[in-house]
Amino acid sequence: MDARVRALESILVDKGYVQPAALDEIVEAYQTRIGPRGGARVVARAWTDPAYAAHLAADATSAIAELDLGGRQGEHMVAVFNDAGTHHLVVCTLCSCYPWAVLGIPPSWYKSSAYRARAVLEPRAVLAEFGTALPGDTRIRVWDSTAEIRYLVVPRRPAGTEGWSEDQLADLVNRDSMIGVRPADEPAAVGNRS
Ligand code: FE
Repeated sequence: MDARVRALESILVDKGYVQPAALDEIVEAYQTRIGPRGGARVVARAWTDPAYAAHLAADATSAIAELDLGGRQGEHMVAVFNDAGTHHLVVCTLCSCYPWAVLGIPPSWYKSSAYRARAVLEPRAVLAEFGTALPGDTRIRVWDSTAEIRYLVVPRRPAGTEGWSEDQLADLVNRDSMIGVRPADEPAAVGNRS
């Protein structure tokens, strides 16, 4: 695949259809500036601001744009909220559609055929392999991303974070929790990290 991409890039550059500097700029942006931190800001805001959460639930595209995020591969966003009764999991069964604008570059497992097939067939087993054990009566809803709609999971706010600032909370929101394969980090995990 790498060789194919390089071959395609060199043809497009040779023919003058794209500029190498523009490609470098896009890759650099997604590798260094655009990443799951953007999505974490959205989730932390939703946890602390009920009006923002309502906006996010009603129109995620505009709520996300309000935080100066959005754009490529994030044009039509839908936010789904985990709660005690329901856990949401995101996949793209067809290929690898992913909300780049809020989560950056997708992890390689997200693009694997095993994840794409098994997330739908046996989501509970997939979650268990990520270390996520849900109570038996928790309903799992699987959302299939498309070129038109990308999903952002809002994980449950961890207990013991009352009074935390938005920035502190954002540190608990890991990328995988916004795909739905893991919960947000526990407050103790942040203490261990510093
Ligand atoms: Fe896709």
